[in-house]
Amino acid sequence: MAENKVIFEKSVPGRWGVILPESAAPQIKLSDNIAQELLRSSPAELPEVTEPQVVRHYVNLSVKNHHIDKDFYPLGSCTMKYNPKINDALAALPGFSTIHPLQGEENCQGALHIMFELSRMLQKITGMADCTLQPSAGSQGEFVGLLIMKKYHEQKGEDRKYIIIPETAHGTNPASVVLGGYQPLEVKSDNRGRVDMDDLRSKVNENVAGMMLTQPNTLGLFEDSIEEIASLIHDAGGLMYMDGANLNALVGLCRSADMGFDITHINLHKTFSTPHGGGGPGSGPIAVVDHLSKFLPVPRVAKQDNGQYYLQKNCPDSIGQVHSFYGNFSILVRAYVYIKMLGDEGLKKMSRQAIINANYLKHQLKDAFHIPFPEGTLHEFVVSGVKQKEKGVKVLDIAKALLDHGFHAPTIYFPNNVPEAMMIEPTESETRETLDRFVSSMLEINESINTNPESIKQCPVNTPVSRLDETKANRELNLRWKNDLS
Ligand SMILES: *Cc1c(COP(=O)(O)O)cnc(C)c1O
Repeated sequence: MAENKVIFEKSVPGRWGVILPESAAPQIKLSDNIAQELLRSSPAELPEVTEPQVVRHYVNLSVKNHHIDKDFYPLGSCTMKYNPKINDALAALPGFSTIHPLQGEENCQGALHIMFELSRMLQKITGMADCTLQPSAGSQGEFVGLLIMKKYHEQKGEDRKYIIIPETAHGTNPASVVLGGYQPLEVKSDNRGRVDMDDLRSKVNENVAGMMLTQPNTLGLFEDSIEEIASLIHDAGGLMYMDGANLNALVGLCRSADMGFDITHINLHKTFSTPHGGGGPGSGPIAVVDHLSKFLPVPRVAKQDNGQYYLQKNCPDSIGQVHSFYGNFSILVRAYVYIKMLGDEGLKKMSRQAIINANYLKHQLKDAFHIPFPEGTLHEFVVSGVKQKEKGVKVLDIAKALLDHGFHAPTIYFPNNVPEAMMIEPTESETRETLDRFVSSMLEINESINTNPESIKQCPVNTPVSRLDETKANRELNLRWKNDLS
């Protein structure tokens, strides 16, 4: 512990990093303007370090954690693709980054134009008739979609109780269902990893408000009975909600509306270029079919005949406002730039490349690892570490071993219907060489499991923090650093 203190604490009295210029402002005596009891009696305890020390401190911190600028990040369902830096640069332009949300509509026409056009782009991509950019995450999009469903049924004088979700659903789906005032009704998967149609038929009735379905599903597979599923739900008076967080597999190839969905969210921070994973701001717009448009949140960005944009607030059927102001604007700029720069053909290529990369990895890993639902992989696939488990090594251990190889681990133990699941999503932005390096690491780890399984259970040994006590970390999480490690 004492050693840690020496490494972390770099301050030495008298060391300087900057020399501040003399203030041009007239010198005022602080004590004349601030109450005596609010004044400091001793100088603030600030670190005293040189500029190179500060630079090295932050550079070293930045590479302690894994990130996409460092190496491959195949975290399934999260679409940790590389995002072009120019999108960040453009979002940071003062014309975007310094406007104030309370500024008048007449002098932020450019921002409104971007929002209006981005909505249209997302409508084109999903085939939907209208869109809101307000929700700040996929999960909030789900919630808003459910509020819209609720209002739709209420206006028809109906009080329905259930939302059907597949057993492979992302955890946010049942959570949103409950927050939206419904109860989740789980439908099983069949032996091909798709919705079990018999089970679905047995659950659809007039108490079902709708179905929330991830397309492609969390096994990375296209729900190929989608038209039949949508008819079943629609015939019973329900609505179809598409969890579109995995749109990376579909953009330019097929559209949510054509498949029979009525509402879909789009994770801009996954598919449309915003760095994520560190808990920063996100954006989960939702797009809807024509007859649900009137329920979308206010304010809405609209355009007058003379080409002027304005914020429409008077929408009597709207579910109301769901985010402060208009959502996370800088994320919207990034998505706009990304879509504009790729164009129709570029977007199609993006999806195809994501699909090819996942299929390539699956093919290279299929002999060493069991792949329970192998047919029809799109942007990701799920490996089951059952063979490795027989040798005493869990998927958690494999994930830890990958850290030693300099990769982020895939998503593990999800979806729930695959034992020892490892969900791998390479995304389109990786080269074949990177994919091959990952394959080599996976095969090397598998080889060690066969010859020396104990060595894998010790991993990671090369990372700044070695294996944690998972239970203790969950129960007694302590993220605070104190200058008091003795
Ligand atoms: C990421 C994800 C979500 C939730 O999106 P957030 O923006 O993290 O709230 C929902 N469903 C699926 C399938 C996802 O991959």
